[in-house]
Amino acid sequence: MSREVDLFVIGAGSGGVRAARFAAGFGARVAVAESRYLGGTCVNVGCVPKKLLSYGAHFHEDFGVAADYGWSPGTPGFDWPTLIANKNREIARLNGVYRSLLQGSGVTLVESHARILDPHTVEAGGERWRAKHILVATGGWPQKPDIPGAELGITSNEAFFLPQLPRRVLVIGGGYIAVEFASIFNGLGADTTLAHRGELFLRGFDQGVREHLRDTLQLKSMKLEFGAEPVEILRRGDGSLATRFKDGREIESDCVFFATGRHAMTEGLGLENCATKLDDKGHVQVDEHFITAEPSVLAIGDVIGRVQLTPVALAEGMAVARRLFRPEEYRPIDYRLIPTAVFSLPNIGTVGLTEEAAREAGHEVKVFESRFRPMRLSLGANGEKTLMKLVVDAGDDRVLGCHMVGPDAGEVIQGLAVALRAGATKRVFDETLGIHPTAAEEFVTMRTPRAS
Ligand code: NDP
Repeated sequence: MSREVDLFVIGAGSGGVRAARFAAGFGARVAVAESRYLGGTCVNVGCVPKKLLSYGAHFHEDFGVAADYGWSPGTPGFDWPTLIANKNREIARLNGVYRSLLQGSGVTLVESHARILDPHTVEAGGERWRAKHILVATGGWPQKPDIPGAELGITSNEAFFLPQLPRRVLVIGGGYIAVEFASIFNGLGADTTLAHRGELFLRGFDQGVREHLRDTLQLKSMKLEFGAEPVEILRRGDGSLATRFKDGREIESDCVFFATGRHAMTEGLGLENCATKLDDKGHVQVDEHFITAEPSVLAIGDVIGRVQLTPVALAEGMAVARRLFRPEEYRPIDYRLIPTAVFSLPNIGTVGLTEEAAREAGHEVKVFESRFRPMRLSLGANGEKTLMKLVVDAGDDRVLGCHMVGPDAGEVIQGLAVALRAGATKRVFDETLGIHPTAAEEFVTMRTPRAS
């Protein structure tokens, strides 16, 4: 005996839950299998707890700023176990919200590993499920480099549950997770080193943004090591870890944190039982409608390795549900102009083309740039500066990219993303009145392009 559904979703993360709920809302019979935690990486070991820890880390410097405003906060103490326990309580609440969202929309939740047996059959929860469509939304998993001693290091999965804040942390990597976690550890008071194999972190971001963040992190006493490729980690007699790099550098720490990318979670899914193919990086290959080489099997989110961001997975989940069960409302996803933020301290917010990408794409560009001390810091000696940057096509005046490094950059850039999607020109920015006094008004008051 097998149970019948229209859609069987494997993975109850952001994308899977969105697809399941929308499909059920359109009248489809839907089941979703999850073997780990409801809400996936984002809710449990990603965006949400990361942002909570990031808020926690920011208080450290806020106490200093408060003193400039006349407050006497005393000597602030920090208790990591309290932060983690409170974070865990909030995540458990969100897990419950996800459960009731699924139940409320009529989706059958199967809390078990799922395995594809053939293009229309899944085994999960001790039962066989016949499905018209199977959706793989299993996400990704952190990966460590293949070096001796790698097992001594942790990844983001473990960082959220460390029993204590390490005294000395070495973060290896140069992507979102590396700079975000290095900022968290540094902000919370750990002696933090970020080591990246490249010349500068955040490959693909605007060069000016990367350099500004580098300088600001150094100002905040974070140690940065570039051109540092790890080759070995050893545990010393006193319990500390010694990480050796290719060029002979060695860094001692109490915790090594690998933020060296993520791989697609495809193991044990039974993909070999259908025609679905993986690309050379192990991501599930799909066409523009998220259909794999097996017509009844689809895939979305981090497992397809396209753009690994929660809002993208949500959009993909919704697109799949619409195309299958409400085709009249289906529109393909436009992957251009995806805004994004890096929750480093300070934050980066960005939408559209970097200066380098705009030039490479053949645009003649005008660049408007402003560096200034945020007003909130103006009463003290803190030298931190905010960077705002507009990349404009010199020919048709269209704003191609907006970039910011500074407090609440993500909040500011979200609004500008709407303007860019609407095709705003620099003239439209110039004609927009500012909100005074804010940092964001700088985006509509920059008048003189940078020389060169
Ligand atoms: P990324 O792919 O962004 O970065 C991985 C980093 O690790 C790169 O700097 C890479 O270097 C380096 N690296 C890879 N392999 C090795 C190795 N063997 N030795 C040393 N360094 C290595 O991965 P993340 O894990 O940081 O994040 C994964 C994705 O999750 C992001 O791309 C993003 O899409 C998403 N994310 C989004 C967030 C947000 O929206 N705020 C937050 C966190 C994650 P190199 O540049 O030289 O290749």
